[in-house]
Amino acid sequence: MFDFKTPVENLYLVGPARAKILKKLEIHSLGDLLFYFPRAHQDLSKITPIKDLKPGEFFSIKAKVLEIKSFRTKIRKLALTQALVEDDTGSIICMWFNQPFLSKVIKAHEIFLFSGKAVIEKNKLILQNPIYEQEKSEQVHTARLVPIYSLTSQITQKQLRTIIKTYLDKTYISEYIPKHILESERLLEENAAVQNFHFPSDYSSLKQAQKRLAFDEIFVMQTKVLQSKKQRQLRSSAQIRNIQLLSDKIQTLPFRLTESQQKALAEITADFAKPFPANRLLEGDVGSGKTIVAALAMWLAAKHGLQAVMLAPTEILASQHYANLRKFFESDGITTALRTSSHKSEPARVTFGTHALLQNRVKFQNLALVVIDEQHRFGVEQRSILKNLNNTHLLTMSATPIPRTLALTLYGDLDISMLKELPSGRQKIWTKIATEENRPKAYDFIKKQIQAGRQAFVICPLVSESDKLGVKSATVEYEKLSREIFPELKVGLLHGKLKASEKEKVMQAFQNNETNILVSSSVVEVGVDVPNATVMMIEGAERFGLAQLHQFRGRVGRAEHKSYCFLFSEDAENPRLKAVVESNDGFELAEKDLQIRGAGDLYGTAQSGYRFRIATLTNLDLVEKSREYAFKLLDSDPTLAQYPALKQKVSEQEKVHLE
Ligand code: ADP
Ligand code: MG
Repeated sequence: MFDFKTPVENLYLVGPARAKILKKLEIHSLGDLLFYFPRAHQDLSKITPIKDLKPGEFFSIKAKVLEIKSFRTKIRKLALTQALVEDDTGSIICMWFNQPFLSKVIKAHEIFLFSGKAVIEKNKLILQNPIYEQEKSEQVHTARLVPIYSLTSQITQKQLRTIIKTYLDKTYISEYIPKHILESERLLEENAAVQNFHFPSDYSSLKQAQKRLAFDEIFVMQTKVLQSKKQRQLRSSAQIRNIQLLSDKIQTLPFRLTESQQKALAEITADFAKPFPANRLLEGDVGSGKTIVAALAMWLAAKHGLQAVMLAPTEILASQHYANLRKFFESDGITTALRTSSHKSEPARVTFGTHALLQNRVKFQNLALVVIDEQHRFGVEQRSILKNLNNTHLLTMSATPIPRTLALTLYGDLDISMLKELPSGRQKIWTKIATEENRPKAYDFIKKQIQAGRQAFVICPLVSESDKLGVKSATVEYEKLSREIFPELKVGLLHGKLKASEKEKVMQAFQNNETNILVSSSVVEVGVDVPNATVMMIEGAERFGLAQLHQFRGRVGRAEHKSYCFLFSEDAENPRLKAVVESNDGFELAEKDLQIRGAGDLYGTAQSGYRFRIATLTNLDLVEKSREYAFKLLDSDPTLAQYPALKQKVSEQEKVHLE
């Protein structure tokens, strides 16, 4: 019996050189090897009598080798091997190139299976380069559903197949899913499922195997996330109960909260009243008004004498939140601070910042609520900072729509609030693909908008690899616009290379309508809120992704003014640009994006850094079912004490959700 952790280099048939190749396929251990599932199967199961072979098709035959010889062709000196083989119905020649050793492997008088393409050569039907395998009690390479693996060029299908088969035969994979679940779901046992996924006897057993292994993936993930949800519920947190305080504050807002905002706020405050920390995702399209919901939650925490922080992915966004929300808090005597890598102020009651804020040395007295804006923009390490926040309420915000299955699977320990509508009075953003000939008109249009008191963004794409921060393209555009096109207007320039304090100045000037036009690299993509801006002009629009374009467009149309988005591109047929023109709805666009990019890139999984190998996240039924089982199981046995094998699997499961 082998241990699953046995390194591949220690395996018979592998050795150090092959181990290197296997490692390129992410196969490091015996366990990896056994779970390296084929990407497809080739159906060689049907054996055709030799007399029925036809040119141009792929056949498997079972035949006795009459004679075999290797030789070189006279003219081109090719190494050829020819075998004459026969079955009860006839005979045929099998021919191979450049494999002279075959005459030693395939022996006369023995029965072999051959699978290959029948072709006519010199007026005779032959089998070309067939796969061969001696007749055995169980065929591996021929005369069955043959597994086809994803490979590198340094190892052949036959070699890998042989290694995997050898170890499948030597190992028994023990079961870890509770019996009652297997029975009621009619699932194969783990060992049978793994064996059959590689070497199924027919398509229906392959399907059974895949069903079982797909269940595994989702079930283990569900158990993991639900377990951590349960563990969270055992932790204590600051309770924030005096919810009535909020209603007076809400009265002072310059607008009425939308239905969705009110509902989300109610859900958040309900979390606060519970004795354990909240972990909630606030989802809503660009411009739906997430910030004020979070600000009200922070305000309530502050009113209870507790500290709250709001984290943003960029300094620009952090200082914008600070600038916009300071008064909101300070008018009620709540102290505020900005903490980024360039502003090192000590935390106040309410603190705004980038992730630098949560880095070790910053001390909080009684931090009760952490809000994370544009959650999807935070990298994995930045998220891991949050691990230490065991007792704080966590509210994350994102405009990225997450399909329900993904939300349940990856973010299963998260509660979700949705902002379904935009604030009333918003008008659809007029969007058009524009070409060079439209340029003069577009500039005229911008001029008119500015005369009417509005402002405009001009976004520049990266034009060269060496210009990762967009300095050059934005600077060139800035020179052109400020000198030639709009010499009488005030134009600002923003790109990634500016110092934080300079960025702030530029943003502040634009915020205050001291500059009319802001020329920027993609740094303003998320979160930036300048409600007076009504024109978004995107240069080289085809260079941006669909979600990015939608985010850019979301920088305008944030108040009652009619807003406009020009997508400058010579590629008027670009499907992404057309999609943005056709829809203003982020959820719809995400669906379109998925269609355009193809189902291969499961939405959101790349973002979360996790890929399922077998299960598909579109299988809502499977997700809900396994969730239910996991839920019941944990209810009766929260630590999985009765199921040590499952417990082990769950603890090995990569954790991909937020915490
Ligand atoms: P996002 O959800 O994209 O973060 P913001 O929170 O920045 O959106 O809100 C966009 C704009 O809408 C802001 O200027 C904000 O003040 C305004 N806003 C938020 N809620 C409402 C509302 N209920 N009515 C009118 N305007 C609102
Ligand atoms: Mg926002």
